[in-house]
Amino acid sequence: MGVSVEVLASGSRGNSTIVQSSSTRLLVDAGISCRETFKRMKAGGGDPHSLSAILITHEHTDHVSGLLVLARKLKIPVFMTGATHQAWSRALRDADGERPKLDRLEFFSSGHSFHIGDIGVTPFTIPHDAADPVGFTFRSEGMKVAIATDLGYMPASVRDQLRGCDLLVVESNHDLEMLRVGSYPWAVKQRVMSRVGHLSNSALAEFFATDYDGNASYIVLAHLSEENNHPELARSAAEKALSGRRTLLRNRVMLAAQAEAMQPIRF
Ligand SMILES: [Zn+2]
Ligand SMILES: [Zn+2]
Repeated sequence: MGVSVEVLASGSRGNSTIVQSSSTRLLVDAGISCRETFKRMKAGGGDPHSLSAILITHEHTDHVSGLLVLARKLKIPVFMTGATHQAWSRALRDADGERPKLDRLEFFSSGHSFHIGDIGVTPFTIPHDAADPVGFTFRSEGMKVAIATDLGYMPASVRDQLRGCDLLVVESNHDLEMLRVGSYPWAVKQRVMSRVGHLSNSALAEFFATDYDGNASYIVLAHLSEENNHPELARSAAEKALSGRRTLLRNRVMLAAQAEAMQPIRF
């Protein structure tokens, strides 16, 4: 079977990705409904009831909206940081101030690796306006996969985490010019462009053109804005940056979508 990655949904209306080895199946973020998660998994030939655990990057709605129902239905552990859990449960308090309960909750800390089954998980801090946001790298069967979306810029610490990856799921959120002239209120534009907002096509291109080691067979451009980006703009910015470095031409650039799951990428 080997390692495979399937982006079920990506974008500001919901994010969810499956990372699996031969024996362990992880759901990274639960940003679409339980029903939609099941539907998309089954369409790709996967069995939702075979999921081993759910990992959460941060508490924004587009990463957790399906979490409670999924966790209760599947009865699998949910992994997040203590601060993310605080922020998430506070936001979901009911009228009596009662917080939602997860039966199987596990805490991790950024920078501290742990194992779920035969997958080694390393959470790392990303610059984003949430309580304690993280990206992840996953190691199994000699492969390394990274997921890094929802970051205002690409600090050296994140660049380090992205070295030696076989597959990179990385944010290419907006085209700066489309954002500038687009319909978002100024305050929202400022938030998106800020150091704790989202990564632009050009900021990602700058990473590809300078620090990126070129190791990945697949690069998945993710969390594209539907308002302020176009898939072909994101793709051409990335490909142009990679093609400036001849050694990187074997990197295959793919696009994650909001409305449907990507074909699973298998190693
Ligand atoms: Zn976010
Ligand atoms: Zn997001």
